[in-house]
Amino acid sequence: MIFLDNASTTKLNKMAISEIEKSHDLFYNPSAVYGKSLEVKKLLDEAKNKICNFIGTKFNSNLIITASATEADNLAIFGSVKKTDEQIVFSMGEHPAVFNCANELKARGYNVVFVPLNSSGEVDLNILAEILKKPTAFVSIMHVNNETGAINDIAKISKMIKSAWPNAIFHSDGVQAFGKIPVNVVNLGVDLYSISGHKIGAPKGIGCLYVKNISKLKPIIFGGGQEFGIRSGTENTQFILALAKVVENLDVVKNYDYVSNLNNYVREFFSDKQGVVINSSVNSSPYVLSISFDGVRGETLVHLVEQFDVIIGTGSACSSKKTANNRILQAMGISKKLNEGSVRISFSVENSLDEIKTACDIIYSQYLNLKERLK
Ligand code: PLP
Repeated sequence: MIFLDNASTTKLNKMAISEIEKSHDLFYNPSAVYGKSLEVKKLLDEAKNKICNFIGTKFNSNLIITASATEADNLAIFGSVKKTDEQIVFSMGEHPAVFNCANELKARGYNVVFVPLNSSGEVDLNILAEILKKPTAFVSIMHVNNETGAINDIAKISKMIKSAWPNAIFHSDGVQAFGKIPVNVVNLGVDLYSISGHKIGAPKGIGCLYVKNISKLKPIIFGGGQEFGIRSGTENTQFILALAKVVENLDVVKNYDYVSNLNNYVREFFSDKQGVVINSSVNSSPYVLSISFDGVRGETLVHLVEQFDVIIGTGSACSSKKTANNRILQAMGISKKLNEGSVRISFSVENSLDEIKTACDIIYSQYLNLKERLK
């Protein structure tokens, strides 16, 4: 099978599996006081430190372990936002894990403002500058978009926010950036940054929230007071160790170059094909490629190529079943017809160039067959 839906999830990395197996005997609760538990707690802290180092920060207390990036996003938003008339700003490109928090805040009467995207899928910085003229308490803008790979200039956006409103809190969902493009939370200037394990070969059900200033964040889950009182619940030690092992062995730059080569092949293959439009700008992350096939439904194409063991996506797993119209592509100004014909190809270092060549041939021939049938 040729799996090209790696932005939705990835195969478990072999090192992650062996790390989970190794930790089989270390089942002790890291919060207990006996020797074995202290051993587990030490391993847990070491693993957290490795993840912290990987994202450019040194201190353990800067990282809160959660059960997913969705939870990390919810914690960042609902743990920061106080009752206020000031603006709470989100981008139109956010994943449902953030976008639906924004909708919930709106329903609760908060002053929620959305920043539109430009035609490349990045946040429109001119409009953001206009929006930031009004008092702003909190901003959430994702680093890399999960549908198109569009990269927002988080360091620049942080400077815009902080120079206008020094006390505003800035969160970025870094799920599709983490482990794929270089990330340094200090240089990015973020207060909060969410990451997920299962997009880079670590298990599903593990996420983290980087927190610059822990005293500004309130818990949204109450209980035994783990994770500095911010996220109660016994830590998932095995999965944290597995995530640390994965990041410790990642070569972000080498992988980026490798995946860029795969991405470029697909771009070139489709560049002269009539009716095929690449939606992702050339400045996007090479890991995600949005393509539209004129005159067909993306979902139908996904099912057709699946019969040939090629797995591609229709976009966000959370939104794909609901509607043929992709919210992100719509925000970029892509026509309804091309939106309906969109698919998402997302790569990993596990994919070979031969796989990509085969997949392109199958996708294109199935597109032509389908178009012929629809005539
Ligand atoms: N944010 C982005 C940008 C994502 O792509 C995803 C996963 O699709 C999430 C958040 C949610 O991550 P998780 O599955 O760990 O909750």
